[in-house]
Amino acid sequence: MVYDLRMNILIVNDDGIYSPGIVALARCARAFGDVRIFAPDVEQSSMGHAITHSRPLRFKPAAIEDFEAYKVNGTPADCVALGHHHWGEVDLVLSGINLGANLGNSMWHSGTLAGAKQASLLGIRGVALSVREGYEPQDFEKLSPHVEEVLERLLRKPDFNLLNVNFPREPKGIRWTRQSVRQYDGIVIEDEDPYQRPVYWCTVSPLEPADDGTDRQAVDEGFVSITPLRLDLTDYDELKRLQSIP
Ligand code: MN
Repeated sequence: MVYDLRMNILIVNDDGIYSPGIVALARCARAFGDVRIFAPDVEQSSMGHAITHSRPLRFKPAAIEDFEAYKVNGTPADCVALGHHHWGEVDLVLSGINLGANLGNSMWHSGTLAGAKQASLLGIRGVALSVREGYEPQDFEKLSPHVEEVLERLLRKPDFNLLNVNFPREPKGIRWTRQSVRQYDGIVIEDEDPYQRPVYWCTVSPLEPADDGTDRQAVDEGFVSITPLRLDLTDYDELKRLQSIP
């Protein structure tokens, strides 16, 4: 379906400009508007919402099929800022498709989500899209109809602001969800490099099963998870409680 209203859609990611996920997303987005890609020149996964302010940024053209695409020596949030500056008018930022889910606690360090959050900070709608990793590389041709279905559904709801979308590898439906928040073991495992120098692995194995209605449960059960988010982190109940204590 080709939309009458042609939007300016900025595409970003954190896996880097040559990830198969970003070109798959750009191909899907093309049906909904004009597409430009601004993405990090190297992988920026788990960099969260970092911005670069202590050195200048550059962007250079990149050969990504026939897309207008630029690689940036910065973070996902930098890419959104530069893309917005370059284009002037951006109606929608799509960030992804990340190779690996961004569920629950990983929202705190996700560079993919940061791309969408940066859009939201600039007053632009932002959607982060990620797919759960498996042993085999993701078949994006198989996933694309599901991505297009999600985009079409979302763009029928023009009032959304910031969304986090996660795909299982073979989706069987779509669920609106809330963020799963559960504890991780946070264990650090010590090992040795070939020169017998110590190296460390941070583990993030979850301690509890996913709660009902959460993003993690939906993807575990084979559904696409869509979670509406907001930038305001204030805990309003706690604010009231603390204010009430003299
Ligand atoms: Mn990534």
